[in-house]
Amino acid sequence: MHKPSNKALVPFVSVDNMMALVNYIGIEKFLIDLSSEIEADFKRWSLFDKTPRVASHSDVGVIELMPTSDGEMYGFKYVNGHPKNTKVGLQTVTAFGLLAEVKTGYPKLLSEMTLLTALRTAATSALAAKYLAPKNSKIMAMIGNGAQSEFQCIAFKAICGIKQVRLYDIDANATSKTFVNLSNCGLDVVKCISAQEAILNSDIISTCTADKQLATILTDNMVGAGVHINAIGGDCPGKTELHKNILLRSSIFVEYPPQTRIEGEIQQLEKNYPVTELWEVMTQKSKGRINDSQITLFDSVGFAIEDFSALKFLLKKINNTSFFEKLDMLADPDDPRDLFGMLHRAKKV
Ligand code: NAD
Repeated sequence: MHKPSNKALVPFVSVDNMMALVNYIGIEKFLIDLSSEIEADFKRWSLFDKTPRVASHSDVGVIELMPTSDGEMYGFKYVNGHPKNTKVGLQTVTAFGLLAEVKTGYPKLLSEMTLLTALRTAATSALAAKYLAPKNSKIMAMIGNGAQSEFQCIAFKAICGIKQVRLYDIDANATSKTFVNLSNCGLDVVKCISAQEAILNSDIISTCTADKQLATILTDNMVGAGVHINAIGGDCPGKTELHKNILLRSSIFVEYPPQTRIEGEIQQLEKNYPVTELWEVMTQKSKGRINDSQITLFDSVGFAIEDFSALKFLLKKINNTSFFEKLDMLADPDDPRDLFGMLHRAKKV
């Protein structure tokens, strides 16, 4: 049988290996270092090819492809969003992604990205809050206690110094799950029975719910002056979490306006409504929080550059480790033009 040479084998990080790597590094360090990688890439924003993700919608969810390139490497993620999946024991969000070198077009890494998406979303949220949230924020409301929630809480602890998280979900079992998972992580974790109770004294309000509708997880009267809102769950046309009046009182920060205007909370506003791009705040081209009474809103939908940064970070972290397998996914004939000959010889063997 034809044996492919080592150079054509592609590193593959499975879910098992991703878990082993994160546990080996430690989740807080992983999130801090990943957020630095994302921040560095946001600071060289203009170098990237950017396009809104390609979305295929159905009545129950969405399947999306998220590509980008910095001219040296190219990456894409395949990701779904199906809020009803959990009722049949499936994840709302699953993903995998690939990183390739532009020079040859050859893939350099294939990876699971369900865990990596939760990690990069949390790292990006906390990174945004580092620039936008009130100084010395200590308390965060976490509304929506599903798959992403613990990652969010731990990232805000590690990156923003949050001490207390106040959990609320319409499903009390989800809140109990998150409460148990966060025990012994160094956070003061409080279970709440309403969104109102969760936001009590909170400096930061994170909304991370899944429902394919224009929901109002927060109404205008619930949001006081000076808070930072980290809104993650509104990330599809027809799927939002905040009442429009909250948006009108907030300074709104987004990843990539052409995508966020389609998918984010700001789909509720006119199409030229002023928003600030996060990379501009990071490069001091624009101001972030300017006073204590300002409501800042990170209208997160998740952008391809965050996944690119995560894959690039992962490729560095698996170097010289055993946290990956090698996949025979590229044809590697001895003579590059003799693809058929390779097939033919394999049959004879
Ligand atoms: P999940 O299905 O595991 O959890 C969602 C939770 O929201 C569930 O526990 C559900 O009971 C709860 N919920 C639904 N309606 C609610 C309400 N009205 N009030 C309180 N809780 C409510 O989903 P997940 O994987 O944790 O993802 C959460 C959301 O984040 C999804 O909408 C997903 O599309 C989105 N997401 C965004 C990004 C991003 O980059 N912005 C990345 C990943 C996921």
